[in-house]
Amino acid sequence: MTTRRHALALLVLTGCSNQGPEPPPFTEPTATGPLVEITDFDANGKASPPASVSSVRLDGEQWRARLTPLGFSVLRMSDTELAFTGKYSNHHETGIYQCAGCGTALFSSKDKFESGTGWPSFTAPIAATNIQDGEDGSRREVRCHRCYGHLGHVFPDGPPPTGLRYCINSAALRFVKINF
Ligand code: FE
Repeated sequence: MTTRRHALALLVLTGCSNQGPEPPPFTEPTATGPLVEITDFDANGKASPPASVSSVRLDGEQWRARLTPLGFSVLRMSDTELAFTGKYSNHHETGIYQCAGCGTALFSSKDKFESGTGWPSFTAPIAATNIQDGEDGSRREVRCHRCYGHLGHVFPDGPPPTGLRYCINSAALRFVKINF
């Protein structure tokens, strides 16, 4: 009996180690920062008028508790995931990509395109209010407006209608399926 229990425990442990870290269940973040204008989207993907909400400012330990190790590296340390390794680089369901850190809607599947780069690529954010961009050396960096998490970069070589390519890390995103 003891041997069978040990074998079962080993099976469970082996199974866990092969699956890779899953993010903890998403919960609404504690909102502590200054107010920011954010556009919210309902379960059907319909936008509400922009409204003031508290920005999300957490310390390092609080972010680590909310994110996978890779999510923390990308969102809070401005790291970049390896090309073709992210779960949304070859992902074609319809829906909204939210910030993995705070849940803010960031991109729509309607604006996703195949860039061939190995990172999820979009021609536009879902709402201009919900992202921030700024200088990062020679590139323009893209961040979540509500929690200031690093998402990726935007380049001027995208397809119509914008001519922009938002090159975003899968690890910074959380997909919510919607039948548009
Ligand atoms: Fe965020």
